[in-house]
Amino acid sequence: FPSPEKLYDCLVIGGGQAGLACGYYLRKAHLTFAILDDQNEPGGAWQHTWPSLTLFSPAGYSSLPGWMMPEYTQGFPPSEHVIAYLRAYENRYQLPVHRPVAVTEVHHDGSVFTVKVTHGGNSEVLRAHNVISATGTWSQPHCPSYPGLADFTGTHVHSAHYQGVDGFRDQRVAVVGGGNSGAQIAAELSAVASVRWLTMRTPKFLPDDVDGRVLFQVATQHARHLAAGTTSSGGIASLGDIVAVPEVREARDSGRLFAEPMFTSLTPSGAQWADGTTDTFDQIVWCTGFRPALRHLQQLRIRDAAGRIGTNGTACEAIDGLFLVGYGDWTGPASATLIGVGKTARDTVYAIQSRMN
Ligand code: FAD
Repeated sequence: FPSPEKLYDCLVIGGGQAGLACGYYLRKAHLTFAILDDQNEPGGAWQHTWPSLTLFSPAGYSSLPGWMMPEYTQGFPPSEHVIAYLRAYENRYQLPVHRPVAVTEVHHDGSVFTVKVTHGGNSEVLRAHNVISATGTWSQPHCPSYPGLADFTGTHVHSAHYQGVDGFRDQRVAVVGGGNSGAQIAAELSAVASVRWLTMRTPKFLPDDVDGRVLFQVATQHARHLAAGTTSSGGIASLGDIVAVPEVREARDSGRLFAEPMFTSLTPSGAQWADGTTDTFDQIVWCTGFRPALRHLQQLRIRDAAGRIGTNGTACEAIDGLFLVGYGDWTGPASATLIGVGKTARDTVYAIQSRMN
């Protein structure tokens, strides 16, 4: 267990891909650090995905700094392949990841951070000059609120807790959400259930002959524009676009997967649309995204009136020495992806190094 007596150069909260990428650069910079993760096993969010989930790009385009993800020859890698890679990555670079250690509070006295943790029923306080928060989003699934929600008598599940088609056979299901999760889950369920795929906007599919690699290329271009202070043209794709993985393509081409407008309210037996039409549903699957897991930073009072945390790159504007890594574009272009997080992790550790000199 990390030493309560020691004053670390940096404590990293979260031992998923973002925490490990930071660990790689902290190790290279010879800084003293520990990574605190509340899970029992390596893998971060990848331990909690639905069984059929695969990456939307090949292994070579899903790598953390220093070491390529081993090749996967039967299509795009599934989550077990990613988890095995993250486990091996930790071992390869001997990253000091401590599990299960949950960070409950972070405080700052103007110079040093104190980090309250629980592990095995005990509480401790650790201290550091810098803190990197890399706690991801999986623990904060977001479901929008609709009138009538409380009266709906069917069942709901968020994609965070979706575990495959069992329990959905021959049911009437609304799959809500126009991103990759919505498309993949609607495609899979449409083979066994009567599915309506409901989206706020018309979903944008990437051309069939490209995969998630093009999304990373666009994100890289966007990062270059940001660095140069120029405006990005937006390119041919954005990170929310749907990658036509084989299952999605097959469902779409066979006419089982097509998007329809969102309902405006729920009824006890289903949903109602703006034009007054209704439909009945047994189940709703919300593929409506996640929010950053930032409860441990509450005592720092760094949110503005709109609830946002101001960042310059990954650096928190309100408190020197606090960094937020891996949460999405607001903490660095494509930083919530395997290949994208490396650059923001590197820049973060450079910033920490210069603070320590
Ligand atoms: P996480 O993996 O969530 O790691 C954070 C860790 O911190 C977790 O172990 C968490 O339990 C722990 N933690 C949280 N709070 C605390 C606390 N207070 N104290 C201690 N520990 C804490 N990316 C790609 O690159 N390619 C893809 O194809 C792809 N597909 C995706 C498909 C889906 C459906 C989803 C949801 C995401 C996908 N992603 C993909 C995105 C991305 O890779 C993941 O969201 C990624 O897991 C984020 O990594 P992270 O390290 O930031 O967070």
